[in-house]
Amino acid sequence: MHRMTSTQARHARRPVLQSAIDTGARCANEDPDLWFRADGEPHITWQVRRAEAKRVCTGCPVRAACKELALRNGDGNEHVDDLVRGALSGNELAVARTAQAERLAAAVDADRDTEQRELHDLVVQVQNEVISSPDRRRDGARLAPAQVQTEQNQMVGLLTARIKEIRAARRARAGWGVAA
Ligand code: SF4
Repeated sequence: MHRMTSTQARHARRPVLQSAIDTGARCANEDPDLWFRADGEPHITWQVRRAEAKRVCTGCPVRAACKELALRNGDGNEHVDDLVRGALSGNELAVARTAQAERLAAAVDADRDTEQRELHDLVVQVQNEVISSPDRRRDGARLAPAQVQTEQNQMVGLLTARIKEIRAARRARAGWGVAA
């Protein structure tokens, strides 16, 4: 797993950060509850679990990407100590976000532009695929119409799945929930 530095994470766009986390998160094989304080959990027990979560994060190869994405997502609250991301508690994330507000706002804007462009390109690719000619050749031989249709369907399926993924992520970030 390629270890991303803080500088690389700050300059990376959201899909790159997310992909790094998806492939390298050390918490992927752990109990996810470790990173969240339970409702009404006493400070004394959360303190122990929080320290353990931070210990796991400290050895995580994608810690920088995780922290950067948490900051861009607005995770953490200055007044609520209830989670850990990228080895920082919710309060620590809030303090870091305030200190880096200008840089983070620019990063979020750049992510939005990049995502918007990708969505537009994907929609154009779907349209092109749907109206593309059924007369296709490979290695000089004409492909059977059924095979062309199958390949078109597969490509449209892949493209629309990516479109749905981006839209679901945008809705979730806007607080509308994945299924909205
Ligand atoms: S830094 Fe911590 S919370 Fe983030 S992906 Fe790694 S282990 Fe998970």
